[in-house]
Amino acid sequence: MKTFLLLLLLFINTPGPSTTVYICKGAKGKRYHLRADCRGLSNCQHKIVKMTLEDAQKNGFTLCGWEK
Ligand SMILES: [Zn+2]
Repeated sequence: MKTFLLLLLLFINTPGPSTTVYICKGAKGKRYHLRADCRGLSNCQHKIVKMTLEDAQKNGFTLCGWEK
């Protein structure tokens, strides 16, 4: 049972296709962010939009440099 809970936690913490990511719409770089409070997003002068990780990757976005 303990192992099951641990696996469940790991699963929740691992970004999957339906994970919500944040994008600075209108910015030059095509980066997505896993955290809304990421320092890469705090510089955003544009609108911040949410989408799924799957959609972000389909649209050519890559993970921001601060979150690697
Ligand atoms: Zn970021």
